[in-house]
Amino acid sequence: MDDGLITPPAHEPTVAEPPSVDVVTDALRTVIDPELGSDVVTLGMIPSVEVAPDGAVTVGVKLTIGGCPMRAEIKRSIEDRISVHPGVTSVKIDWGEMTPEERTAAMTTARWNARERAPETAIGERCRIVAVASGKGGVGKSSVTVNLAAGLAASGLTVGVLDADIWGFSVPRLLGVDQPLEATEVDGRPRITPNRLPIGDGMIEVVSTGFLVEESTALMWRGLMLTKAVEQFLRDVAWGDLDYLLIDMPPGTGDVQMGLARLLPRTSLVVVTTPALAAQRVAQRAADMARRSFLPVVGVIENMSGFVCEHGEHHEVFGSGGGQALADAVGAPLLGSIPIEAALADGGDIGQPVILSSDGPAATALRAIVNRLRDEVVPMVPSTDGIDMAGCSARLLAAVETALSEADAQSAD
Ligand code: ADP
Repeated sequence: MDDGLITPPAHEPTVAEPPSVDVVTDALRTVIDPELGSDVVTLGMIPSVEVAPDGAVTVGVKLTIGGCPMRAEIKRSIEDRISVHPGVTSVKIDWGEMTPEERTAAMTTARWNARERAPETAIGERCRIVAVASGKGGVGKSSVTVNLAAGLAASGLTVGVLDADIWGFSVPRLLGVDQPLEATEVDGRPRITPNRLPIGDGMIEVVSTGFLVEESTALMWRGLMLTKAVEQFLRDVAWGDLDYLLIDMPPGTGDVQMGLARLLPRTSLVVVTTPALAAQRVAQRAADMARRSFLPVVGVIENMSGFVCEHGEHHEVFGSGGGQALADAVGAPLLGSIPIEAALADGGDIGQPVILSSDGPAATALRAIVNRLRDEVVPMVPSTDGIDMAGCSARLLAAVETALSEADAQSAD
């Protein structure tokens, strides 16, 4: 009998279909290796994905190294991304380890990706970027940075100096500059104008958090916005047409280094150390960090390496061999050793880099390092303004294109 009631259809539990291997793989593309900064699929870390008919998913994951500290993070992330799919009943990970060749390939991919995705900075393409780092404070990193900058500028170049040592900025004092930074509008955008310091035919352009805050209050600012200030210096400074940018890094490892690696992946690193083997171990940590953030270490500079007394005798005040040992450990050349000399410290006190005013042993060693950097280690990229471009790759490419189109035209005849 039809009682007028509509019988609802019997409720069928909705059993979602398990996802396809492609769907799982796409989900894995959103899992980023926190250390390498690329997704695990692109990095070649996923050798296999299996999905059983009952929705059990098994993912093979090859870590760059077996004891990878990021293992737990990667596991959590993979489980989160896959288990959201309604058809998944369980997620299992089969762990493995990359071979050295696979590891090298993953590193290369990560590096390439970092470069491709690098956010814009206001630093010209032509500019060579050298970050000067050390494992700990007080080894003379800032003194070396300003002297290298002054030496490069004295040879007619335009050199940017970015004082990223926000915890102990000393660049303003070492260069004798203390004007606060000003902002101007460039192309409709506010930009920070660096302080400019003519040196011979060249120029130093310098920015430092020291131009923004008083040295005595810097500690209060730390962690609040100073790391952000470094990023802003990279993005928003109206730098001129720089030949080199030298960055005085904070000692050790941390946010500023990672930020720099992200914003300027083409940075090369020079590590300053003292001859003491203990300091060298600390500097080694900085070098390790650099490698993890894909900044290549291109050289080691040993500072405070001995003292030549007035009788010409050499005294090893801080031990010996640290610079060469570090250079060997990181596979980069020892660019030079700078002895202890009062003139270097005195020059810093009066804002007059010793390299510009002395023929003493420290200035001589610094000049040799400047020459090696400019001519060999991070050679200058010549400006294309008004020069013959015959050897330039753009010209070569144009020539190849012309030759190819001529060949095409001939074969079409
Ligand atoms: P860091 O940047 O590593 O903290 P600094 O460049 O501020 O180190 O140098 C620390 C102190 O050591 C400064 O007073 C500086 O003048 C002095 N100094 C650095 N290198 C030398 C050297 N080769 N000879 C004499 N004094 C030096």
